[in-house]
Amino acid sequence: MENVQVKDKTFSIFLTEEQIKARVQEMATKINKDLAGKRPLFMAVLNGSFIFAADLIRQIDIPCDITFVRMASYIGTQSTGRVKELIGLNEVIEGRTVVVLEDIIDTGLTMRELVSILKAKHPAEIRIASLVVKPDSLKVELDINYHCFDIPNKFIVGYGLDYDGEGRNLPAIYAVV
Ligand code: 5GP
Repeated sequence: MENVQVKDKTFSIFLTEEQIKARVQEMATKINKDLAGKRPLFMAVLNGSFIFAADLIRQIDIPCDITFVRMASYIGTQSTGRVKELIGLNEVIEGRTVVVLEDIIDTGLTMRELVSILKAKHPAEIRIASLVVKPDSLKVELDINYHCFDIPNKFIVGYGLDYDGEGRNLPAIYAVV
């Protein structure tokens, strides 16, 4: 499929299933090598990362654990406005190697907040693995250890990523026309 319609917008093919599969496999190979003997805890950030996490984890061949969390936005009582809260973390991460799995890093603000919440729980180390990064939109310094694709500042859907709740089921990634 070259073009898809999601709600009111038309999207065109941007990353094919084959391209995604190859890059996810390369990321897994690197992680298998880097983290052998560390029993990493993979922490997939829902909702967007569910397909990426499922594909990546099946290529991980070292002992590991996986957990799923969510960053929920709410309007804070302070003047800072929007605050994000980490939901769903039941594991003790003290002393562990945590690999955060994200679908996309845009401004990087969500990831910075998540990393700061996790650091307070004293993991041995935190590694960031994102399927996609938009380097031109990054607003904060982030040490992104692994990523599959750098993309320009375009809005994308598919492979877990949604547009207003739809499009997550598309097997490839599409960019807004
Ligand atoms: P950040 O805090 O890095 O600006 O935002 C990250 C979040 O914004 C992602 O987890 C995702 O939910 C959303 N996001 C940013 N860019 C895109 C995009 O191109 N497509 C979709 N579907 N979501 C995006």
